[in-house]
Amino acid sequence: MHGPQLLPPNQWPEADAVRELLQADLDRTLVNPPRLALFVQSSAMGAIVFIGASDYYYGSGGVWVDAQGRPRDGNLADLLAAELQDALADGMFGRHVSWPDCVLHGQPLRLDTTVDEAGLWVCESNSPHIVGRLGELSLFKTTHQ
Ligand SMILES: [Zn+2]
Repeated sequence: MHGPQLLPPNQWPEADAVRELLQADLDRTLVNPPRLALFVQSSAMGAIVFIGASDYYYGSGGVWVDAQGRPRDGNLADLLAAELQDALADGMFGRHVSWPDCVLHGQPLRLDTTVDEAGLWVCESNSPHIVGRLGELSLFKTTHQ
């Protein structure tokens, strides 16, 4: 059995779209952001999508999907965002990074798709608030108000 392979272009456009939105947020809010890639491991039971960079992937999790690349449970953006956050926290890209953190409260944001299907980064501090939409995150806005 082969290990996870790079997800071929255009196989699962929805997954590619989520990756691009996460990349946009990374590029705007993290110094030396990794260049994200998606990997897929197919098996008789389905497929698992892993987040990674060009030549390695984060293997401590993954998202189970069906043949169309849709998660069995939950929302793909939620699940891939959480994978990316875990990968960064575990130091997959060389540094242990908590991302994205709320500038006001210093705690990690969580992607929420219950209110807006497109995904909102929310801070769950004692004063919960929305920080930005997926793909439009700009943490610096809050520091210059
Ligand atoms: Zn906050």
